[in-house]
Amino acid sequence: MLGGSYITEVYDSEWLEDSVVSAVDWVVRYEGEDALHKLLLHLEGEWKIEDVPNILYMKDGVRVENPRDRIRDIDVLATPNYDDLPLEMYLDRPVRLMVMGNRGCYWAKCTFCAHFWSLGVGAMRDRSAIKLVSDMHELQERHGARSFYFCDESMYPPTLEGLCDLIPQTGMDVKWGGMIRFEESLDRAFLQRMYDAGCYSLFFGLESMSQAMQDVIKKGTQVDVVWRTLRDCKEIGIKVHLFFILGIPGETEADMMESLNFMRNHPDLYETLQIAQFELLVGSPIYLKPERYGVNNLEVVSDHARLAYSEVAYDRTRGLTHEEISAYVEEVDNDDMIYRKNIWSGYGFTIYQPDPPVLERPKNSKRPVPPPLDLAKLNDVFKPIEKHRAASTDEVEERRSSFNKVATQQKQEAERRAKAITAERDSA
Ligand code: SF4
Repeated sequence: MLGGSYITEVYDSEWLEDSVVSAVDWVVRYEGEDALHKLLLHLEGEWKIEDVPNILYMKDGVRVENPRDRIRDIDVLATPNYDDLPLEMYLDRPVRLMVMGNRGCYWAKCTFCAHFWSLGVGAMRDRSAIKLVSDMHELQERHGARSFYFCDESMYPPTLEGLCDLIPQTGMDVKWGGMIRFEESLDRAFLQRMYDAGCYSLFFGLESMSQAMQDVIKKGTQVDVVWRTLRDCKEIGIKVHLFFILGIPGETEADMMESLNFMRNHPDLYETLQIAQFELLVGSPIYLKPERYGVNNLEVVSDHARLAYSEVAYDRTRGLTHEEISAYVEEVDNDDMIYRKNIWSGYGFTIYQPDPPVLERPKNSKRPVPPPLDLAKLNDVFKPIEKHRAASTDEVEERRSSFNKVATQQKQEAERRAKAITAERDSA
């Protein structure tokens, strides 16, 4: 059986390669809990295969796709079960476990994003704060977990309100963090309440420090709110991770410099960052209305390493070119200060732990000072990761160049055909 978010996010099940569907008994798209339960009933002869939701399979050499369904109330789902994982081998001490505060994205508007449609626009469902507190309690009892990460697309402010009320009442000693948007409602008082309820790190999808680019991506973020929130988090003691996208369609050199200058000049306002080059995702609003964003000549192609038709070759009609953007990406990759802050450099280790082995402590922290950082040990831990990083960079380069080659050939072929048609019309 094959399932999970990547398989779900392939825009159209038709675009999953045949080799993938035939290699397994069932592909499960969208939500898996109900499908898995009913598949097990089917194997016991108690459920008809046609009534198992969200599955795709081969029957007599033909693909069959069952209707889609979703779980309406996610409070009915059980607390995650980590019993069979070798948690003692994980780097986090004490172990940090995932909990789910919501499913789907409550914002669902970002123009570069294709995550939200796979679970349905307007289909965000939240787990109640009381259920989440009971999840944390159960995982604490079972595994001694004291630190939790919300695996939500974006943490939902009303859920956070509930957690801020409930956790202090229970007296539980828990720390937590997760991904979040820069929300106007995240004011100083709210962030302080979150910190008091155990929030120790927030992962913000900032994407760009240019307001013009924020307006293009429709994340609902105002750059002045970003500055305010980052300063508040720093003073309160909440660690911040930032995601950036370089090369948003229409991005100019001036927009790019707003982001780069911020990264270089304000490392005190964030703990770690992650930088991605813009990728045009099938199904995203930019893909659906490309002309509006200065993008054209879209061509969906299959990258076999990704099992599906999911990569898009395209041209830019305004702003920086593909080559100029790649040059900026290379520049930040080679920037020592930015590299040190990159989550993959090893320094990222610090943002994942409530009591990380770093020397600096937030001024108002009442927690005991942790043991000093054993750099030698940390380097040993991250050496294999560095090796992997180097290998995967080569692999990505290789894929990128073969992809560019195919895209160029396709473009040339399209131009040749267009010329032939024009010539034919002219002669007629
Ligand atoms: S980028 Fe994040 S906040 Fe924006 S729509 Fe996608 S999942 Fe939601």
